[in-house]
Amino acid sequence: MNNKYAKRVMEDVRAKNRDQAEFLQAVEEVLSTLGPVLDANPQYEENAILERLVQPERTIIFRVPWIDDKGIVRVNRGYRVQFNSAIGPYKGGLRFDSSVNLSVLKFLGFEQIFKNSLTTLPMGGGKGGSDFNPKVSPHTPGKRCSDREVMRFCQAFMSELCHHIGPNTDVPAGDMNVGGREIGYLFGQYRKMTNEWSGVLTGKAVSFGGSLIRPEATGYGAVYFAENMLATQHQDFKGKTCVVSGSGNVATYATEKLIRLGAKVVTFSDRSGTLYVKNGFTIDDVKAVIDLKTVRRGELNEFARRVKGAKFFKNANPWQISDTIDCAFPCSRQNELDDKDAAYLLKHGCRLVAEGANMPSTPKAVAAFLKAKILYAPGKASNAGGVATSGLEMSQNSERLSWTAKIVDEKLREIMAAIHDNAYAAAARYGHKGNYVMGANIAGFTKVADAMVDQGIV
Ligand code: NDP
Repeated sequence: MNNKYAKRVMEDVRAKNRDQAEFLQAVEEVLSTLGPVLDANPQYEENAILERLVQPERTIIFRVPWIDDKGIVRVNRGYRVQFNSAIGPYKGGLRFDSSVNLSVLKFLGFEQIFKNSLTTLPMGGGKGGSDFNPKVSPHTPGKRCSDREVMRFCQAFMSELCHHIGPNTDVPAGDMNVGGREIGYLFGQYRKMTNEWSGVLTGKAVSFGGSLIRPEATGYGAVYFAENMLATQHQDFKGKTCVVSGSGNVATYATEKLIRLGAKVVTFSDRSGTLYVKNGFTIDDVKAVIDLKTVRRGELNEFARRVKGAKFFKNANPWQISDTIDCAFPCSRQNELDDKDAAYLLKHGCRLVAEGANMPSTPKAVAAFLKAKILYAPGKASNAGGVATSGLEMSQNSERLSWTAKIVDEKLREIMAAIHDNAYAAAARYGHKGNYVMGANIAGFTKVADAMVDQGIV
């Protein structure tokens, strides 16, 4: 980190958040790229923009008591980190997972500020969730929570959260383990508590205000962003071999779009391991994986027996399996791809990495991609299609209108192209052509920083 101002703020963040490894990693990644823009704009330091940006405007932590199917009282911890609302209402997902803690949510909320700014829509940054995991029953080992348990948890969670959110204040959405089922229960409870029907959550079912293409948007968007990167080198996806991690919302729709664009996708993964198919998955395989993971809520190893030529690698991630790789799409979780994985990918021909997940590549892996000068898209740019389409859902709810899938998909494509072009241009403007990390951070930061300067010290 060369800039003195950024360095001083980073030291202060480190001293005040010693136990928050993920948050420190995310802040360092952003501050280390802002040197050129801070040098050129002394008003940012005069207005203490960085000091204010690294501090959430508000953090809410609350208890969530609920009753399981055996009649036992369970208590989880709920969070909402309202990070920055300079350019619009706080916006960002809710994550339900045992790994959720303040550090993880602050990292995600901080990233969300820049991601939302990049979408060109008026949305601030926030994130929330709980250490409740719907995939783990509290009373029966190896089983999941029942639907009724998930409903009771969501109702208890929203009974408190409803006091802090609203269509003009904070509009949460889904994230890991928070899909259509959870959003439905959360929305029902918000409506009951407030006696109000409003677009307070996005990712809703179409029957009560959801947008078409919202479930597909993050995965599709990551592929559209990657398509734009390839176009700068006069290439497309036809015949390219891709490795994808995860088998959830982002991974499955990214895979579907890649197959439709002529690529071959050879992996899916989950907590049980990696499924590898040398000749690539078909669209029917993708549909079956969506059914397995979202309807039957099973594990990928169950699927291995059903796909011809499939091999299952227990407890393995997908990066070091295929011996030919053109493109990689990490779509599972933070820090899932390290420097050894990056070295393997580069050695086996990988020339494009587009992140569907948030911060899936470790700092050393990112450094390796940048050094090799491959096309590397950080999640805050390439996975912004989900939140962008959430922004489109908010617009439809305000207008009391529903747009067709074709219109939403066209808008998504345009937004991803705009994010790509902004990031590309910002990097080039500061002498780092092709560095999307720098470009995304600078473009996302500048809009928020200027809004904060204009609005005074608040
Ligand atoms: P899902 O819960 O639908 O899928 C997550 C996938 O990652 C599952 O296949 C899950 O496996 C796997 N996974 C999670 N933890 C682990 C682990 N410790 N080891 C191995 N595999 C793991 O989540 P999403 O697809 O919605 O989100 C994926 C990523 O994308 C997250 O980083 C999220 O923040 C990010 N993102 C999501 C957006 C969205 O619109 N959904 C928007 C922008 C970013 P298993 O089924 O076994 O748990």
